[in-house]
Amino acid sequence: MSERKPNLILRSDMPLEEFIEKIIVEMRSLEVDFSYTGFGTWSHSKLKAFSSCYLYFLLNNLLKVKYELTESEMDMQESLRMKFTGIIAHGILEDLVNGIDFDTSLAKHKDKYQSDLSEEAWLDIESLRDRTQMFMDRFNFFSEIHGKESHHTEQKLAIDYVGNPVPFDSKKVFFRGVLDLSILLKNGDAILFDHKNGGSAEHGLRNYESQLKSQALLLSCNRPDIKSVVPFIHFIQEGGIAGGNNVYKRGTIQEEFLKSIVSRIDGSIEILKEKRKFKQSSGNLCQYCEFKAMCKTGKRGSGGLLKPIIDESVRFFK
Ligand code: SF4
Repeated sequence: MSERKPNLILRSDMPLEEFIEKIIVEMRSLEVDFSYTGFGTWSHSKLKAFSSCYLYFLLNNLLKVKYELTESEMDMQESLRMKFTGIIAHGILEDLVNGIDFDTSLAKHKDKYQSDLSEEAWLDIESLRDRTQMFMDRFNFFSEIHGKESHHTEQKLAIDYVGNPVPFDSKKVFFRGVLDLSILLKNGDAILFDHKNGGSAEHGLRNYESQLKSQALLLSCNRPDIKSVVPFIHFIQEGGIAGGNNVYKRGTIQEEFLKSIVSRIDGSIEILKEKRKFKQSSGNLCQYCEFKAMCKTGKRGSGGLLKPIIDESVRFFK
């Protein structure tokens, strides 16, 4: 889980006209190429944004606007605070897997993020001690029982348009991702773990399959020796783990998973071209959207205070 570099940082206490004007100026220097290669490098989160809400995709992924919320706005949007505590919890889990103890890792993260979180939020993070230990017990169990060859944390992997491995920051990258944890086994299989701060193991992998498939694709293309990938999701706050029943065979990964990504991109481009504007679309993504307060103000379905940006986006289709 990594933080994105913004192009434009805007504060929520900025006057509205200035906020909109800065975005519109940025839009005027943006060229949009409506092809699956025209939107730059893809990742699972970028594709999810593209297929969920075109307005969010425009602001977050094309213009790279970072909207800094005040402390009270953060408190009102609990899901955003969760997103931030998730970054720290991911960091602690990475340290644990690499042999650093909980207290040392917590102290390291406090040094870096102390002022960004309330005391209460830090207590929540400290209370993860037992649940992260439960995860470590599972990790050690997998490693011993299945015969671990090696493990990798925060692995940055990328492929080009035909699935060849390429360096993460190369100009040839078509799709890339950062894998929380993979365990390569002596029998040639790989166990893949993705940590989620929220959610529950109760619902299994149902909502995470496209992400896990994209990660399996990256892993398999970058490691030709892997025979199959077994995906799991670890739910940090709950302490539960889902997965173990799905096995992605190398042949299926190579034949189907890249095609499926390309067809999702193509499908969303076709819909966007029909709409002829980057319009908002409400859904699950709204709960994590930093523009939510502005988007949901005013008449329902209008884009609220962001309407001038939607109107301006029509020019990309001329
Ligand atoms: S609040 Fe929802 S509809 Fe509005 S921009 Fe964000 S994701 Fe899109």
